[in-house]
Amino acid sequence: MFDVIVVGAGPAGSTAAKTLAEKGRRVLLVERFKMPRYKSCSGQLIQKTLDLVEAYYGEPVPVSTMCTPYENRGVILTDDKGNAYRFEQNGRNVWRSAFDKWLADKTAAAGAEVREDTAAIACEAGEELVTVTLKSGGKAYTEQAPYLIDCEGVTGALKRKLMGKEPEYVTTFQTYNRGSIDLDPHFFYAWLQPDLSQYDAWFNVKDGQLVLGVSVRDSGRIDEYFSRFIAYMQDEHDLRIHEQLKEDRWLMHRVRPGCPIDHGVGRVLFAGETAGFLNPMGEGVSSAIESGHLLGEAMEAHFDDPKAVLSAYATAARPLQDYMKRQWHLVSAMSDAFGDMKI
Ligand SMILES: Cc1cc2nc3c(=O)[nH]c(=O)nc-3n(C[C@H](O)[C@H](O)[C@H](O)COP(=O)(O)OP(=O)(O)OC[C@H]3O[C@@H](n4cnc5c(N)ncnc54)[C@H](O)[C@@H]3O)c2cc1C
Repeated sequence: MFDVIVVGAGPAGSTAAKTLAEKGRRVLLVERFKMPRYKSCSGQLIQKTLDLVEAYYGEPVPVSTMCTPYENRGVILTDDKGNAYRFEQNGRNVWRSAFDKWLADKTAAAGAEVREDTAAIACEAGEELVTVTLKSGGKAYTEQAPYLIDCEGVTGALKRKLMGKEPEYVTTFQTYNRGSIDLDPHFFYAWLQPDLSQYDAWFNVKDGQLVLGVSVRDSGRIDEYFSRFIAYMQDEHDLRIHEQLKEDRWLMHRVRPGCPIDHGVGRVLFAGETAGFLNPMGEGVSSAIESGHLLGEAMEAHFDDPKAVLSAYATAARPLQDYMKRQWHLVSAMSDAFGDMKI
């Protein structure tokens, strides 16, 4: 019997589980893959994320999770008219597989039981307990706890079933390449011109690999946008690809005007991307960590009263939602595609 079952060992799930385990709660964190697991991500940790990691994990992001160049110096954004803006700040460049494994290890060290290779396939919330069906090695079994924290990330299958609503997605596609380009590897670049993507197109460098990606609302048009983006990069930035090493296709939460957040239903609470937290240019690790922590704190403070947990969490997470709205507002001024995100 656990006090809390947390689903998903991404930054939101690990942080929520660690926060509660540190308070002495019996926490089960389940992750459907074996760690380290792959997660499509640019792996750019902004200053805010670095500060949150130090505050909640008690030490800086370790070099063992980083790829070169370790230092990320900010973002260079090109608006839909082709004007470039430079936003400098101190960040880090990590492989998400290594970073998320480190977070999960720290969570286990704090006392949570971490079960890898274990998928949550169903959950049923009763008056006092939530029953979760878990599947591992082809075998299904159940666990119960007074609370379930759903941090499954963008797909949020449990949440979809629970709330009966289909989320809207943005599809991402990126390739990892050997080659050359005339851009500074210390920056993350994003382009908002509508002919290059339906959301954003981006470039960054990881361990010498040139990563190029586009995101679209209409997944059937990925190839068309990606080819145009590559041609643009060849013309504008002297991109030369010698060898494509890898490609991946993923989903991202589509943020709607007003940045609505689903905090939870009864004894099932949401954090991270499952709750709807995601900043522009797909920056989501900071809000995943922060929402996971705020939820853990709210739950500990009001453990015997699920309604109070939900309300305390929603109140505590309001500044995070406001931060997200301000970020999207900024982007709305840079591209007509985001005009409806104006505050
Ligand atoms: C292409 C791309 C680039 C990005 N680049 C950046 C970036 O540079 N910087 C940044 O800050 N953010 C970036 N993001 C966003 C960031 O990856 C997410 O917002 C962040 O990972 C959300 O954290 P999370 O903990 O909510 O979910 P996730 O990190 O997605 O973690 C969810 C975990 O739950 C597990 N899981 C899912 N379902 C189940 C289940 N049923 N049972 C058990 N386990 C389950 C998954 O395997 C996963 O490990 C990027 C996203 C994409 C798609």
